[in-house]
Amino acid sequence: THDIHIIGGGLAGSEAAWQLAQAGHKVKLSEMRGSGSMTAAHQSDRLAELVCSNSFRSDDAERNAVGLLHQEMRDLGSLILGQGDIYKVPAGSALAVDRDGFADGVTAMLAGHPNITIVRERVDQLPGEGLTIVATGPLTAPGLADSIGSATGKESLAFFDAIAPILHFESIDFTTAWYQSRWNKGEGKDYINCPMSKDEYLAFHAGLIAGEKTEFREWENVPYFEGCMPVEVMAERGVDTLRYGPMKGVGLDDPRTGRWPYAVVQLRQDNASGTLWNMVGFQTKLKYGAQVELFRTIPGLENAEFARLGGLHRNTFIRSPELLDPTLRLKSRPNIRFAGQITGCEGYVESAAIGLLAGRFAAAELAGTTLASPPRETALGALLAHITGEAEVETYQPMNVNFGLFPPIEGRSKKADRKLMYTSRARAAFSGWISA
Ligand code: FAD
Repeated sequence: THDIHIIGGGLAGSEAAWQLAQAGHKVKLSEMRGSGSMTAAHQSDRLAELVCSNSFRSDDAERNAVGLLHQEMRDLGSLILGQGDIYKVPAGSALAVDRDGFADGVTAMLAGHPNITIVRERVDQLPGEGLTIVATGPLTAPGLADSIGSATGKESLAFFDAIAPILHFESIDFTTAWYQSRWNKGEGKDYINCPMSKDEYLAFHAGLIAGEKTEFREWENVPYFEGCMPVEVMAERGVDTLRYGPMKGVGLDDPRTGRWPYAVVQLRQDNASGTLWNMVGFQTKLKYGAQVELFRTIPGLENAEFARLGGLHRNTFIRSPELLDPTLRLKSRPNIRFAGQITGCEGYVESAAIGLLAGRFAAAELAGTTLASPPRETALGALLAHITGEAEVETYQPMNVNFGLFPPIEGRSKKADRKLMYTSRARAAFSGWISA
């Protein structure tokens, strides 16, 4: 027997299970991978598998909202951040991880916990009674998605986004490519750069536009997440859009010319041993053949061997601001909480953060107490408030944590100072909340 049933062992479900188990409650964690079911993006049966980038983004708790969120989660004993810190790989001021080591670490911690039972099964119906957390993510299996749809009385929203290709280190040509972080920030070997002349860039841009794409008619006219926009969609916005975005050459000195290149493709380390590198910002829905052909025109990647090509996937989430109460319970069926990306937060860290809160709210409920919500001035509080009511219902879209979700700081100040003001205010509010 168990005190609570968690459905989905991804970033959010793993974190929620850990928080509840650590508080002394018996958890049943159902995960469909490993029982014959798969999603379109996962590749293994490991819990907390990272489906795309291996980065938890900025780890700067003073000037960056996601860095601040990292810090708050560490202070609350987060399993995801704890294992992320253990399996960290070099990435400048970002926290990037060895994806296999990380997911193995999370799986082992949960499997070894005396209060957690992991069951490999697909759940097709929302449980009628008993405390439940639904953390089945953007790729929730269709049967359960239908069941959620009928319980909420609303259509779940379907989105798509794209994943970036990963290539083998030994296939990169270092007579053209070189190691350097932009403006020489971070460790010298965090990024590999592949430079382009103006002519090369223009030809590449034309190739992106002309390349054959996967058709997804049923999802046409659905907005993309900013930050995970397919490279060819950016290319369509204008000939220079990429050159001012992921392909910008500024702050990078091509050793062959001593100058900044006209444009650049950057690669970032993808695993601890440094054998795999991902193409930064190159999420794409180009067909596989078109990807290989076009990406091998990038100087330095003429002989590139790809470990994984880019792709396109479904993304399911509910209209949380309307459906959920402030502690993430479904208003119409309060025995059920939602956590992770299915609530409409966006990102590994945000998903785990909402899992952490769902776990803690449920733990308090099981203990017969209540947990005050984290203050709105904190990163956790700002994200939670957005999901559970602050966001516009009609235009609700997946959201990363950012200072725009925090209560504004009054008065005028320099941009750099403002970030510090947000984070120092947050730290004070967080300390007050923890001690209360
Ligand atoms: P998941 O980590 O997906 O976990 C959900 C789990 O539930 C899965 O293990 C799944 O197998 C299981 N499950 C689903 N249905 C059932 C069922 N019926 N019964 C039992 N188990 C079930 N975020 C980033 O920060 N960086 C990125 O680069 C990034 N890239 C992404 C690329 C793609 C293609 C997608 C779809 C999302 C991406 N995201 C990215 C967004 C998001 O942060 C991640 O998907 C994150 O893993 C979400 O965490 P989660 O716990 O909500 O869901």
